[in-house]
Amino acid sequence: MRVYNFSAGPSMLFEDVLKEAQASFLDYENSGMSVTEMSHRAKVYDGIHNECLALFTELMKVPDDYQVLLLQGGASQQFDAIPLNLISATGKADYVVTGNFANLAYKSAKKYGDIALAASSEDKTYTYIPKVTIDSFRKDASYVHITSNNTIFGTRWKEFPETPCPLVADVSSEILSRDIDVSKFGLLYAGAQKNISAAGLTVVIVRKDLIGKELPICPTMLAYKTQADKNSLYNTPPAFSIYIAMLTLRHIKKMGGISAINKINVEKAAMLYDFIDNSTLFKNYVNKEDRSIMNVPFVTGSEELDAKFVKEAAANGLVSIKGHRLVGGMRASIYNAMPVEGVKKLIEFMKKFELENK
Ligand SMILES: *Cc1c(COP(=O)(O)O)cnc(C)c1O
Repeated sequence: MRVYNFSAGPSMLFEDVLKEAQASFLDYENSGMSVTEMSHRAKVYDGIHNECLALFTELMKVPDDYQVLLLQGGASQQFDAIPLNLISATGKADYVVTGNFANLAYKSAKKYGDIALAASSEDKTYTYIPKVTIDSFRKDASYVHITSNNTIFGTRWKEFPETPCPLVADVSSEILSRDIDVSKFGLLYAGAQKNISAAGLTVVIVRKDLIGKELPICPTMLAYKTQADKNSLYNTPPAFSIYIAMLTLRHIKKMGGISAINKINVEKAAMLYDFIDNSTLFKNYVNKEDRSIMNVPFVTGSEELDAKFVKEAAANGLVSIKGHRLVGGMRASIYNAMPVEGVKKLIEFMKKFELENK
């Protein structure tokens, strides 16, 4: 039996995508083989690779002066790749630290230049997004880095900041969930395992004029130019993950695109927050206007009850709802592929749990 999987990542994929992958697993489009077995130089693979790139470009309305790169190494690898590729402009970069991943990106960058902490929400355990203006950033920074959705703490930048230089955002846990104006950014990046595909693929969308400026010490495989010049086929790509991404993108297109899916996401999140805000047992500590619509953390106030909730939820087919080890409690990740029905089931279960544990 399939369960509702509230994991923060890897997370649920659309059932249609899984079924289609299953149906063509042994023999993809009469090639006589699986996508996991075929040469990345074969024509049949070219179709998958290029459709994936084209669908990203179409659905995210990627302008002509940007390039989509299909990479490996996870979002975490970009914590080094970004400074290595972008800091050469002035040797300086500014970071806003709004959570654990933002902090890891900030710490990695420090190896490569003069890195400033422009703002942080650590003072209140990352329960809000700091207010920044263009004056929060150094005029001579090469770029400003933010984490658009904070997976562990459940916050997100509703509006993006004005910056005096290219804005770079880690969109790992919200890519494809809402319309993002790519032209406002120098670079966007995301690990695939939350809202796109199976793990193994990292998507980078970068403005073309920022490619080819890597530091001399930049490893060949981390330089954007290496893959940009070769249509992301410099070496063997994570073909299966790219294939699943292509199926996911096709599915989103069929649903009406990103704005259509965003509507459903907003509804799902509103239902859950509304229940929590009216609950006598469950609480969400995030500043209301900064709440994520992808990751919803909540607590009962008792560690014992939290543990009981996680256990009983799992027994009811609502799995991986335990909060991150850094914050405890619970966290429901309700990415694109989490059906409305899954959120309704969760709320029903929370209601029942609340009554039974007064
Ligand atoms: C999950 C996550 C990461 C880490 O991704 P990996 O692909 O495992 O390296 C980084 N940033 C954010 C915002 C995430 O949610």
